[in-house]
This record gives sequence, structure tokens and C-alpha cells, in this order.
Amino acid sequence: MNVLIVEDEISLAKEIASFLKSENFLCDLAFTGNEASEKIAVNLYDFVLLDLGLPDYDGLDLIREACELGSEASFIVITARGAVEDKVKGLDLGADDYLAKPFALVELLSRINAVARRKFNIVSPDIVLGDFIMKAQARKLVCNEKEVDLTKKEYDLLHYLVLNRGKVLTRQQLYEHIWGNILDDQYDSNFIDVHIKNLRRKMNQHAPAPWLETVRGVGYRVSDE
Ligand code: CA
Repeated sequence: MNVLIVEDEISLAKEIASFLKSENFLCDLAFTGNEASEKIAVNLYDFVLLDLGLPDYDGLDLIREACELGSEASFIVITARGAVEDKVKGLDLGADDYLAKPFALVELLSRINAVARRKFNIVSPDIVLGDFIMKAQARKLVCNEKEVDLTKKEYDLLHYLVLNRGKVLTRQQLYEHIWGNILDDQYDSNFIDVHIKNLRRKMNQHAPAPWLETVRGVGYRVSDE
């Protein structure tokens, strides 16, 4: 897989590159936002590791630009510890995951692998949920052959609940699966509630979805009946 590392701390960038090369990734480096912007415009990357703290560029603009170019690259955003706002903005813009500095290289690798699994989709059969069918391969939820218009995060959230069918998942578990590891001071349980609420609203426009249950004081569950 082809990775662009965008990081102005040259020694850190090189350290990440040599680690990822040892794991058989192809690595390209950009030490400035401008360099990154040029490279993203002409190369096809599977992943972009993006440090948001760049001296010459708002890292979030790079994500925007890549989207406008129709880039297929998955972004993993690297932020300074505590930069919650940046993280949320990055995820809203379509970043696939984020890591707070400092992080362990093995953690980075496991994030990349997790995103890759989602991105390159492990084949699984359609799953029937009441009146709905989750088409995991197409990453779609349909009801009476009409697609329910879910965002990527809503779909991922539902998919994770479905994969754990019958089990109650806490808000924190859901959060960490979808948005990655978090620091205690960054965790906001409302995030999940808002997404579940939106999910339900969208599904209810098609049919009732009583199988998506709230477990009071704990979290959420997709019932296995
Ligand atoms: Ca930096």
C-alpha cells in the first residue's frame, strides 16, 4: 500500500517512514503542506498520514482539496494532544481516523490496518434486520430495495453494532471503534447519541427499526431476534 506521510518534524516523518517500509508499505514524504498538496494532486495514495500542525498550511484544507480531486486516499489525521476541535473537524471532512501525539508506531500500524479492512472490505453476506437488509459488501443499508441514506460514520456505527449482534456496546466502545482511541478529556458521549438519533430518524423514514435498542445506562444493542 502506498502511503504519503505529511509531517513537518522531519525526524518523526523519517521514523514513521522507516517503520512502515519495514512493514512493506510504500512511503512518500512531504515536509510541508505545499509539498503534500502537489503530491496528492499527481499521485494515487491509499493512505495519507496527515499532521494537522503544519507551518505553511491548514492540514484540513488538504483533506478538502483531496476530496475535491476525487482522491481515493484514506486520511489518518495526527493531532497534538488535546486538539479536539481539529479532530472533530477532520473527521467531519472525511478523515478516517485520528491519532493524538505522541503515539506508538505499532498503534499507527493497527489504525492503518483497521482502516484498510474497512476500505478494502472483507466480504460478508447480506444481513437481514427486520425490514432492512445490510449489504456489507456494498456498504449499504436498504429497505424494500430503497437505500437508506446514511453517512459513512452512521453506517460504520450500525455495522459495528450488527457485527456484535445481541451484545450491548457502550458509547465508549462505539466511539473508539469509529473514531479511534481517545483521551478521557476528549470523550464526549453525546457524539454517539447524536449519531444513533440520526440513524433512527433516517431508518424510520423507511420502516420501524425496533431492533436497534437503547440499553438504559449502558449503551446500544442490535437485538438478535
Ligand atoms: Ca507539526
